[in-house]
Amino acid sequence: MQQKKKLALSTQIFIALVLAIIAGIAFTGNPAIATNYIKPFGTIFLNLIKWIVCPLVFFSIMAGVVSMRDIRKVGAIGGRTVVYYMCTTAFAVAIGLLLANLLKGIFPVLSTTDLSYEPSATSVNFMDTLVGIFPSNFIKPFVDANMLQIIVASLFIGFALILIADRHDIDFKVVDVANDICMKAMEMILKLSPVGVFCLLCPVVAENGPSVLGSLAKVLLVAYLCYVIHAVVVYSASVKVLGHLSPIKFFKGMMPAIMMAFSSASSVGTLPLNMECAQKLGADKEVTSFVLPLGATINMDGTAIYQGVCAVFIASCFGINLTFSQMLTIVLTATLASIGTAGVPGAGMVMLAMVLQSVGLPVEGIALVAGVDRIFDMGRTVVNITGDSSCAIVVSEMQRRREARK
Ligand code: ASP
Repeated sequence: MQQKKKLALSTQIFIALVLAIIAGIAFTGNPAIATNYIKPFGTIFLNLIKWIVCPLVFFSIMAGVVSMRDIRKVGAIGGRTVVYYMCTTAFAVAIGLLLANLLKGIFPVLSTTDLSYEPSATSVNFMDTLVGIFPSNFIKPFVDANMLQIIVASLFIGFALILIADRHDIDFKVVDVANDICMKAMEMILKLSPVGVFCLLCPVVAENGPSVLGSLAKVLLVAYLCYVIHAVVVYSASVKVLGHLSPIKFFKGMMPAIMMAFSSASSVGTLPLNMECAQKLGADKEVTSFVLPLGATINMDGTAIYQGVCAVFIASCFGINLTFSQMLTIVLTATLASIGTAGVPGAGMVMLAMVLQSVGLPVEGIALVAGVDRIFDMGRTVVNITGDSSCAIVVSEMQRRREARK
């Protein structure tokens, strides 16, 4: 039933996309109508996304940290898992940024005026970015929607919570409940996606003509290229070198989970099947039952790639060239955002708002990619769950060798 509902939403979004194109073409002679009367409803949708993203990041990262409280118990497994997850995610977003930058010549610069962007007067350098990550006020990060500061705050509070838990007999459920509330609100907002997509895309097509749509195919192609490169290069290398498993065997064994992830666009929904596949491929039961649920919560390589590619795409649509320090900020934000991205359909798009905000790119740019988010999502979820399993294989092998040495 749940599955049916999700598919229905994606069908609705697709229909909205087609209608937006038709209406947009119809308004090309008089785009002001679309801009003045249709776009405001799209703005409402975007405002809701902006509104929920801060508490969502705050509580979901905290829930992610709290879910790792067993790290101390599982010791080596936990440490290795987190290091593997963070490194592969940083690598993923770097691949996305690199390839999208190499190919950005094929992305258009939009002539649209309503997607206006005013670059900030001050240029940011790396040291400023570094200092700027740490908040000096508890409330201000939320008021300014400063994502990196919100992430730092939630990490600190999350770890503090773990450390005082024994002393105060704390029930971590509070964090889960707060996280669930934000997730539910996000789900409700995402239900408005068809209206949002229609109202945002229609004025863009009206102002730029239907040629803008060709660019969507191009950005999808770049994202899928990165997904494949990351999976084939990074996961093959790690399962081969660190996990001592043939990459062909690995991908073959993962096929059921991959297909499930592709059709459901949900890491969490694919979790049971993913555990089965990983165990059949030789991962220890104990390791998979820790590594995979954690991965479905905090490890999102595909989502990180998507965010890198979309950031470059949106920047180039606005005629902006990202600086090196902005790209470093994107690597950092997308890596940390991956901790806070829920393993459900569409969550990565909400987090894209945060990545764009972290480098001062216009969140309105999401309008350009929102209509085809489901297609991005299917691919990124496949990468997300494959990354989790590769980690289970690698960590299992490391554990076996550790025990053999003992
Ligand atoms: N749908 C993705 C997943 O479940 C998350 C995302 O939207 O990027 O892994």
